[in-house]
Amino acid sequence: MRSMRTTVTALAGALVLGTVAPAPAQAAPAGPDNPSPPAVAALAAGTTHLPGGDLTNEQLGQVLQQIARASDGRVRLRTAGLTNEGRPIRRATLGHGPTRIFYVTQQHGNEPLGTPAAVRALWALGVPDTAWHRWLRSRITLDVIVRANPDGHVRNWRHNYDPDANPEFGQAGEGYDINRYHNPGLTPEANPVPEAAAIQRVWLATRPHIVVDYHMQGQYVFPDGRPITTSILWPTNPLVTAEAVDSGKQLAVLNHEVLTRVLGAGVSQYPGGDYEGIARNAYGLRGSASLLVELSDLAPEFEEFQINTALLSMLAIAQTAADGSLRRIDPARADAIPPRGEPVSATTAHADAA
Ligand SMILES: [Zn+2]
Repeated sequence: MRSMRTTVTALAGALVLGTVAPAPAQAAPAGPDNPSPPAVAALAAGTTHLPGGDLTNEQLGQVLQQIARASDGRVRLRTAGLTNEGRPIRRATLGHGPTRIFYVTQQHGNEPLGTPAAVRALWALGVPDTAWHRWLRSRITLDVIVRANPDGHVRNWRHNYDPDANPEFGQAGEGYDINRYHNPGLTPEANPVPEAAAIQRVWLATRPHIVVDYHMQGQYVFPDGRPITTSILWPTNPLVTAEAVDSGKQLAVLNHEVLTRVLGAGVSQYPGGDYEGIARNAYGLRGSASLLVELSDLAPEFEEFQINTALLSMLAIAQTAADGSLRRIDPARADAIPPRGEPVSATTAHADAA
């Protein structure tokens, strides 16, 4: 585990994304229309003043307001909907480019660390106003649902809050599992889960090319005992087109490469199901490049490491979507990402099914 800590410290170093970028002959040359990209690690290192950990809903609202102000309006805040208890489902947007990207964090209220990562990504891409940042924001528009499940968060539980629910997916007397109600055939108006409906509405309003959904899982190890720090998966529903599967696999290859090489993360495939109501499958069925990212619930001293994992994922996807290199990744390489290994112990193999 010490080597992981060392690589976290090395975040400030100038590791570049060149390991996954296409051959130089294919890359767009740097110039006024494509300024030299900063290393994703350097972008991430500029956000360490922002809070990490398990932010309260109030702290989250405050830091997003701070980012909106610091960005001079380049990060735009909206409410995507209201929970059953009237809490805002927060949406942040930056950029005005044609490539639409949509990140979702914390559909499960007790899986917190994608949320501080999203906060930092919004700062890293929205607050600085260098030529590169302006170029990036001319190429992409990024929407983020920052903590989809604020009601579940205050209870530190998986589901939304709906005590009258007796759901097919969820817990009677508690609420629905938000990440089982994204079915393409289910309209937002008919959706019994306001948080899932809000995410559906953002998808319908933006028709994003890329959707990435950030969760947390228990602790797992590879057969050789190395810790699995992140698991990832593309759409697996059999009705997803081959083209959409390949675009999800391109995201997987990118994440595997960046997280392994920049952070020393242990990245595996995630053994997810085929159900169409899971966001990973639902937005793949709708044609987006879709990926699930599961951060392992490691010991507390690795909290910053895991926030950086999700942050680098978010930044690398934005950067490679903007410069076009994402689409040139060979999707077949995703099949070489190793399967998830065994749980560290029975107690950590909690109900963490995406
Ligand atoms: Zn989850």
